[in-house]
Amino acid sequence: MSETVFSKIIDGEIPSYKIYENDYVYAFLDISQVSKGHTLLIPKKASPNIYETDPETMKHIAEALPIVANAIKKAFNPDGLNIIQNNGEYASQSVFHIHFHLIPRYKEDIDGF
Ligand code: ADP
Repeated sequence: MSETVFSKIIDGEIPSYKIYENDYVYAFLDISQVSKGHTLLIPKKASPNIYETDPETMKHIAEALPIVANAIKKAFNPDGLNIIQNNGEYASQSVFHIHFHLIPRYKEDIDGF
């Protein structure tokens, strides 16, 4: 697949604020914070969307999601957390390297996103 901004983040060519990393996944703050602590979790093995991601990679994502969620909980103490994953431009996907948005929610932010 063609290189995206996320491959460059994994390679360190583009700076990011790391939340969590292991051999298979990388989590970092979204550059455009929907709410305080908005984080993206991505596999290091690139695939464009959910349809083309292999089960092994999804297993690594599934294992990392609660770890990243707990890191966000500890760091930001939100009142809730949304996990969102977009596939295709008509579903608001703009970066074609599969990623999961972890969006902390706060009682005081009632306007939503
Ligand atoms: P959308 O742009 O509609 O949220 P996606 O689900 O594809 O669509 O999300 C891509 C996300 O990547 C966006 O939230 C965007 O702010 C984020 N992003 C783009 N470039 C960077 C970057 N250099 N560092 C961190 N986050 C980035």
